[in-house]
Amino acid sequence: MTKLDSIHTDNKKRANDYVHEVYELVKKRNPDEKEFLQATREIFDSLRPVFAQHPEYITNGILERITEPERIITFRVAWEDDQGKVHVNRGFRVQFNSDLGPYKGGIRFHPSVNASIMKFLAFEQIFKNSLTGQPIGAGKGGSDFDPKGKSDREIMRFTQSFITELSKYIGPDRDVPAGDIGVGKREIGYMFGQYNRLKGGYEAGVFTGKDPNHGGSLGRKEATGYGTVYFVEEMLKVKNESFDGQTVIVSGSGNVSIYAMEKAMQLGAKVVACSDSGGYIYDENGINLDTVKRLKEVENKRISEYTKEHLQAEYHDDCSAIWSIPCDIALPCATQNEIDEIAARMLVANSVKAIGEGANMPCTLEAMALFQENGVLFGPAKAANAGGVAVSAMEMSQNSMRLSWTAEEVDEKLHLVMKNIYTSCVDAADRFGHPGNLVMGANIAGFLKVADAMVAHGLS
Ligand code: NDP
Repeated sequence: MTKLDSIHTDNKKRANDYVHEVYELVKKRNPDEKEFLQATREIFDSLRPVFAQHPEYITNGILERITEPERIITFRVAWEDDQGKVHVNRGFRVQFNSDLGPYKGGIRFHPSVNASIMKFLAFEQIFKNSLTGQPIGAGKGGSDFDPKGKSDREIMRFTQSFITELSKYIGPDRDVPAGDIGVGKREIGYMFGQYNRLKGGYEAGVFTGKDPNHGGSLGRKEATGYGTVYFVEEMLKVKNESFDGQTVIVSGSGNVSIYAMEKAMQLGAKVVACSDSGGYIYDENGINLDTVKRLKEVENKRISEYTKEHLQAEYHDDCSAIWSIPCDIALPCATQNEIDEIAARMLVANSVKAIGEGANMPCTLEAMALFQENGVLFGPAKAANAGGVAVSAMEMSQNSMRLSWTAEEVDEKLHLVMKNIYTSCVDAADRFGHPGNLVMGANIAGFLKVADAMVAHGLS
């Protein structure tokens, strides 16, 4: 062994020991937080080659620091239903990292919301926001409030109560929330109104995802879904392929799913299935998106209703079985861990060519490994669904400049951001010895920028 070889071996060992030690520490500190541990494990596995080349990140304790949120705010949200009964929910905001800019990330209203889910989402946001190249830090928030079956007035009262407490900790240069599961432009509108009432002024830049008629950006609603498809389009070029003529499955039928389906169809794909938490529909003629949009965006109905209007379509009341349908491209756009090893095996057996994660962490670690082992092109969430937050940052810019870009201008910028993210992932994977591995590429490219800022900013 030459002297140089032995230095490399020492550096590799030191990096592996460091990653192992910090992961044990994170496990000990967060014993019951399985989603958070799953997200940290994936990042840690990717970063080993980085620490071997950059010992300064070890001496600056970057991994210990980046896995501990700067601040977690937990609060009571009391509200009254239409019958005058008082309810109490729990509110969260995880302000994870502000080295690149104000905390930025959505608010989720769903009964499954807990500290682990909030922390995993905020942690992922660090790397995603960094990848966009825009000056935004990372956060996430939400509540275990279930908006299903609530009246408009109940949603308004809950949301006002939620923001009354959260308003103490957010602001255009401090923390800028947006929507997520269960939070769309209606909820953002109520939050924005209540925040301005409390502050006694109009602070447009405090929320993104606002209605385009009231300070929001055109193209924000479409951004995450369109961006996911733009990212997968870049991936497919490696195999000299495109969306044209491909059969596609998209899980969910919410904001991300609907616009992923729309862009895939515009690019010539046939989308044959989508779902909600009750089940999935399969339409061999190709899903009629106008019907899905009306059912979900206007009438607030279940996806099963689709088959009443399209008699050739089938409804199955097991949403996870959607992955048994043969397809060329699968876009999981519903929720975390929706593709497990069993689902991944079905997709691989049906010769799926590409997976694009529109939702956050929709594939388990085992599923992800299986896709990679079988040569399936894999676009990880941090990169593939970053289009939403990228356009949110554009909304912040438009609010600061007090002007509005056209939908075409926003879409053009979004397309460019997604292409740049793809290139950064490819370059980082190449540079650190794992060509073609976009999971490693996304984690590393997202990490480097934040780590450098953390070194530059000194210990905190
Ligand atoms: P929505 O609330 O608009 O939609 C979620 C959809 O997923 C609904 O159709 C819901 O059905 C369905 N769903 C929930 N659980 C399941 C399940 N187990 N199987 C099948 N379908 C299910 O949320 P978004 O579209 O905004 O968000 C979806 C995902 O994308 C989340 O992971 C979110 O964090 C992520 N994301 C969202 C961004 C955005 O801009 N909105 C940005 C980046 C990531 P039901 O109505 O029955 O609950």
